[in-house]
Amino acid sequence: MHNQPLETHKANILVIDDTPENLHLLAAMLTEQGYKVRSVTKGSTGLRGAQASPPDLILLDINMPEMNGYEVCQSLKQSDRTRDIPVIFISAMNDVLDKVKAFSVGGVDYVTKPFQVEEVLVRVKNHLTIRNLQKQLLEQNTRLQQEIYERQQAEEKFAKAFRSSPSPISITTLREGRFIDVNSSFIRMSGYSLEEIIGHSVYELNLGITPENYASTVEKLLETGCLQNYEMEFRNQSGDFKIVLLSSELIDLSGTQCVLNIANDITERKRLENEFISLVSHELKTPLTSLMGSLDLLSAGQLGTLTTKGQQVLNIAITNTERLNRLVNDILDLERMKSGKIAIQFAKCNIAELLMQAAEAMQAMAEKANIKLIIEPLTRECMVDPDRILQTLINLLSNAIKFSEPSHTVWLRAKLQADYLQIEVQDQGRGIPAHKLQSIFERFQQVDVSDSRKKGGTGLGLAICRNIVELHNGKIWVESVLGQGSTFYFTLPLTQD
Ligand code: ADP
Repeated sequence: MHNQPLETHKANILVIDDTPENLHLLAAMLTEQGYKVRSVTKGSTGLRGAQASPPDLILLDINMPEMNGYEVCQSLKQSDRTRDIPVIFISAMNDVLDKVKAFSVGGVDYVTKPFQVEEVLVRVKNHLTIRNLQKQLLEQNTRLQQEIYERQQAEEKFAKAFRSSPSPISITTLREGRFIDVNSSFIRMSGYSLEEIIGHSVYELNLGITPENYASTVEKLLETGCLQNYEMEFRNQSGDFKIVLLSSELIDLSGTQCVLNIANDITERKRLENEFISLVSHELKTPLTSLMGSLDLLSAGQLGTLTTKGQQVLNIAITNTERLNRLVNDILDLERMKSGKIAIQFAKCNIAELLMQAAEAMQAMAEKANIKLIIEPLTRECMVDPDRILQTLINLLSNAIKFSEPSHTVWLRAKLQADYLQIEVQDQGRGIPAHKLQSIFERFQQVDVSDSRKKGGTGLGLAICRNIVELHNGKIWVESVLGQGSTFYFTLPLTQD
């Protein structure tokens, strides 16, 4: 809030006095001090002047014919326009000065005649200062009232949205994840009562969020201030898992850093999506197998020789059918993994051997794309499903090669960390934008919608990798700088010797 300077010397002063000498003396003295002075000899003229253009202060003689000073002052106080103008009475020594009356009709001060110049000036200055301060207080007050009103309106709107939103909303403390407030949709989704939720943390309620997950969410929130549509699992009171899209934003509640979380329950949508995809895939599998058999027969020349043009068309049909077949196989693979229909076959393996096998499998593709493949293996035993880990490595290497430019290098390395192995696939390719770093591990998520068509992928590779790594109790993630390259990491537990 900025205050106006207490400027008094340019103030407008109206002097009302029927004695011309007094009037001139006062006017001259005030003008000399820089005030703008209007002087009148009649009370009624003074009143009209004050109404037409309200001055900042009035010096008012008491004894005047027609209308005395008290009457003028009373009139001034009756009008909204002039009520707040400070009035200083001037009265001659021989007037029967009724000081009490002067104040009771609304005067702020009085000066006796013959007056001392300094005294009048000091009193005028003081009352102008007081008036200015009053004005500022009034303005500040009006502004504050307005702010309070606007805040109340905003709070009311938020409270309404909070209460009636069909989306589960919660407010938690940032550091501890303790619930401060939740709406009824949240209560319904969680299965807990309001009393069971408020004051408790996300771990105490066992909502399926681990301290590590929570810590990394807090870190991201502190970095960016908000998170949008973050897919996560939410465990309710009866132990059922729901899939929610969570958007979170940092807010300040009376000096405490808190998080406003808005969830969107997509469990049913996901279930229908899964059902639809797996149904379509199963339905496609049989005709696709027959189609591929027929194309193979044609290609082998067993049904006659094709013209060159015919062979070209056949090749296009084979390439596309193979892509479709890969897609269907990937979907079914993912589905079987997710539903636990295929178990992981753990065996003691040397990670160096797995890296070499993956590199060998990808060597031809790398050479064709003029990409240098550098392996930095590590001889170390681990308990994994070799076929599945190979599948993961091949997927990551194939992406690294696909999204690199000729003459780039791709590194495949294994590192020993405290109690796990960390595998890294690094490229110098186009990179991945920050907002896609999480979502590319979801099914059919690609940075560019044309990626699968242009690069022949299915958009399922990373989802499969994530499933395989999670079945090994590991984690997979990516770090990337646009235009400079990406590094995919995944961890594997070590064998306990
Ligand atoms: P796809 O079959 O399309 O490669 P993935 O699930 O393996 O499916 O990858 C999903 C998307 O992630 C890719 O389409 C691409 O947009 C992006 N991506 C994956 N790996 C890389 C990489 N090394 N560099 C840049 N983008 C990548």
